[in-house]
Order: sequence, then C-alpha cells, then structure tokens
Amino acid sequence: MYERATAEGIASLSTARFAHFSVTGTWVYRREPCKTCGYYWQETVAPLLVQWEPSSEMIGDFSWDGPFGYVFVVKSGVAEMLHSMHLECRFLPVDYVKPDRKRSTVPFPYDGPTLLWGQCTETVNVDMKASQVNVESSCSECGDVRYTFRDSGIIVRRKQMQQLKMFRIATNGPALTFVTEEGRRLIENAALSNIAFSEAGQIIE
Ligand SMILES: [Zn+2]
Repeated sequence: MYERATAEGIASLSTARFAHFSVTGTWVYRREPCKTCGYYWQETVAPLLVQWEPSSEMIGDFSWDGPFGYVFVVKSGVAEMLHSMHLECRFLPVDYVKPDRKRSTVPFPYDGPTLLWGQCTETVNVDMKASQVNVESSCSECGDVRYTFRDSGIIVRRKQMQQLKMFRIATNGPALTFVTEEGRRLIENAALSNIAFSEAGQIIE
C-alpha cells in the first residue's frame, strides 16, 4: 500500500506587478523663480497628491512614483512597522487626484488602504572626492548649486553617519533614500512587497 500523498499547492512564477503613481503636488515656492538660471525654488509639501497611473490595481506595501521612482508611499501598518524600527522617516498625509486613464489603474475615488508619504528626515554629506561628486553648475544670482547626482559609488565617512539607519545625501537634493546594512536587514526581514535594494556605496572610517 502506498500512503496517500498529501495535497500540496503549486504556484507559477511571475513578476509581481504593483500600481505606481505620479506626484502632482502639492508644490510651494520657497522664493521667486530665478530669472538667471530658471531654477524654480519649489518643494513638495503634504499632502502628497498622488495620481495613479496605468500599471495595476494592486497596491503594494510600498508604492512609488513610476517604475523607477524615488518618492514612496506606504500602507499605514507599514508606516507603523518602519517607525518601530526607528528608521529616520516621517509619514505625512496623501491625497488622490483623478487619474487620466481608467484602464489598469487604481479606481477613483480611492477607497483602498490608507497610505502615507514616507519622507526621510536625515541628510548626510558624502566624501565628495571619494564619491566623485563635483559641482556641475552654480548660479551667482540665486546661489543654487548643482552637484553630480549619485545613486552608486557613494562613500560616506563613519563620523557623518552617527547611528543613522536611513538617510539622504545632501548633494542629491531630496531625491533618493538610502539605508545602511542594518536598515536594509530590518526592512527585508519584514518581507514587505514592492521594495527592492541596490548596492549604493560604502561607509568607511
Ligand atoms: Zn539662479
């Protein structure tokens, strides 16, 4: 006699596809746009205005502004988890703008899970020479300085880091959030959807 086999589910592999969005505001102007260099001197403030784009109706634990975006929103339970991990991130309100197209888009009016805008609160200076960050342009009129944008090859000195687990780098402006190995481990252990990590650089003494 053969033992009866226990039924076991099978699953096929496919790409997990999640909804992404565009940021349509809210913008405020910190000062008049510069007539010389054209810099707008604007920043995004809460509420983050999210416009879902044709992508998917499935909302991940994280959602991003486009498939390669930097701005992220998270489900409220995820915000609580990240907060309890003591990651340097605050969570601000989100509002929704009617999508341009309905197809493969999160329905509007939005009645999905509560989402919050994750905004990293800490900024560190990189070792500019070691990271090959240069002044790309500077405006003598308004004082705006542009540096080489870096998403990899970043070198940060240990003394800059204190005990931070999540940070941005000053020369990139507000774009792109980084985590230390510890920050990455904490988030990975939580097995959250729609977040991935790429190697970005090193902390050295
Ligand atoms: Zn200027």
